[in-house]
Amino acid sequence: MEELKELIDQAHYVTFLTGAGVSTPSGIPDYRSKGGLYKREKYDFPPEYMLSHDNLVKHPDIFHQFVVENMYFPDAEPNIIHKKMAEISNEKGVIVTQNVDKLHTKAGAKNVVEFHGNLYDHIHCLKCGKEFDYKEYIKDYRHHEDDGIIRPGTTVLYGEGIDPTNLNDAVKAVENADLIIVAGTSFKVYPFAGLIAYRSPEAKMVAINKENLGLDESVLAITDDAANVFDQL
Ligand SMILES: [Zn+2]
Repeated sequence: MEELKELIDQAHYVTFLTGAGVSTPSGIPDYRSKGGLYKREKYDFPPEYMLSHDNLVKHPDIFHQFVVENMYFPDAEPNIIHKKMAEISNEKGVIVTQNVDKLHTKAGAKNVVEFHGNLYDHIHCLKCGKEFDYKEYIKDYRHHEDDGIIRPGTTVLYGEGIDPTNLNDAVKAVENADLIIVAGTSFKVYPFAGLIAYRSPEAKMVAINKENLGLDESVLAITDDAANVFDQL
């Protein structure tokens, strides 16, 4: 902990790379970890297909049911991790997140790159482009005026590319950092996991995760619950 505090104090630019584990203390299940939604056997298709563009287009009802039951937690509140990260990144850095829950922004973070978009912005009809509030979308995925399908607008589904602006911003965030803190992610999903290849050779790196990520020896690995760690910062 002392080492981590010192690294943060000395850093000029801190880039956080975050995943589902930073939102689990806010009550949002980590769908890749044990007991997460990817292990559930309730659905006919594997979760990668559930969250795919193909499923959205071919089975909009199944897609909708899945995201409403498993992804939307509009009442979730930011936790200590979001709050501390917001403080630090607002002062000197940026947060690049895989999470689509908008909790970093809700915590007051101003410099956030949502690598996979989010579930709440630009929800729109695929046919006419009309925008809807997430509350309306949760109730119904059909736009009855034109029979169009409504979708979360910025969320990147399987089979869709990362928004080039987000990709570019994320790469810059990693290049600019002299301290990179990876938290709450198994770091197995590409292209997100590939971002660290862009780090400067002088950048220090810290990984905070319940399981050791097996990154190279130059990385300070803190094998602990991220909420415990950020609570002590
Ligand atoms: Zn429409």
